[in-house]
Amino acid sequence: MDHYAVFGHPVAHSRSPWIHARFAAATGVSLRYRRIDAAPACFEIAVRAFFAGGGHGANVTLPHKHAACALADVVLPRARGAGAVNTLTALPDGRIAGDNTDGTGLVVDLVDNHGVGLAGRRVLLIGAGGAAAGVLDALLATRPAVLCVVNRTPERARALATARDAARIDAGGFELLERVPAFDVVINATAASLDGKTPPVPAHCIAAHSVCYDLAYAAGGTAFNAWAHAQGAAQVLQGTGMLVEQAAESFRLWRGVRPPTAEIRTRLDRLLDAG
Ligand code: NAP
Repeated sequence: MDHYAVFGHPVAHSRSPWIHARFAAATGVSLRYRRIDAAPACFEIAVRAFFAGGGHGANVTLPHKHAACALADVVLPRARGAGAVNTLTALPDGRIAGDNTDGTGLVVDLVDNHGVGLAGRRVLLIGAGGAAAGVLDALLATRPAVLCVVNRTPERARALATARDAARIDAGGFELLERVPAFDVVINATAASLDGKTPPVPAHCIAAHSVCYDLAYAAGGTAFNAWAHAQGAAQVLQGTGMLVEQAAESFRLWRGVRPPTAEIRTRLDRLLDAG
């Protein structure tokens, strides 16, 4: 039986074992997928021991995505752009490959699952941490008319733009939003919702047709979701779909087949609401 794991610290909350067990059932394979809690000081040793022991692949969550990028022998373009790895794969020659499936997960959820067009649209990405870095290239690849990245610490947003084609990204602090037209799609990639807070986005950024997406998720919706509803946004979404889609992309990298996700997304939403 092939072995997989998710590394994090803490990791007890991770839904990845549940999701991958359903992918395995849906694609008719049997595999073992477990949580491994590794403190930062032990992360590299734990990963190397896992792969030396025959592990086939691993997901990596907070706080290890940057460390995973540093330890991978081969870093694939999506991860190199993000500077962060969320998927490790054992290569036949014994090396470990690192990739990042977060951007694909977000875009598949927005475009394919929810029918949200990004090409030619005005898109606002809030945040400049690991998640924002992970999704930025995938958003750029959809060719939005405007891609604006704002962050509480403006230098981090500017650094993300500078590391790419800065001419295609408006980056800075929230003051950038003071005199701009409303956005078609607003994506919250900050950790504010985890504390029940919302980033200081001016109300005029949301129009009646806007789609608001929070990468975070919570039973009954996040604080950002509640704020977006209060601004009258047309569509308000949270990150459970992205969670399932980034996992599906990891599964595809490991097993060569992309599992179906619709039923699992519905079941995960129900699980979350049931607490
Ligand atoms: P991170 O690297 O720690 O970055 C945190 C970001 O949030 C930074 O931009 C930070 O701004 C900003 N921030 C934190 N508190 C804020 C507040 N009160 N007001 C405004 N901005 C605030 O975290 P991350 O890995 O990027 O994760 C961000 C979120 O994405 C988390 O909620 C995480 O659960 C979610 N996520 C979801 C998925 C999924 O599959 N659905 C995948 C990855 C991440 P500063 O730079 O100024 O500190």
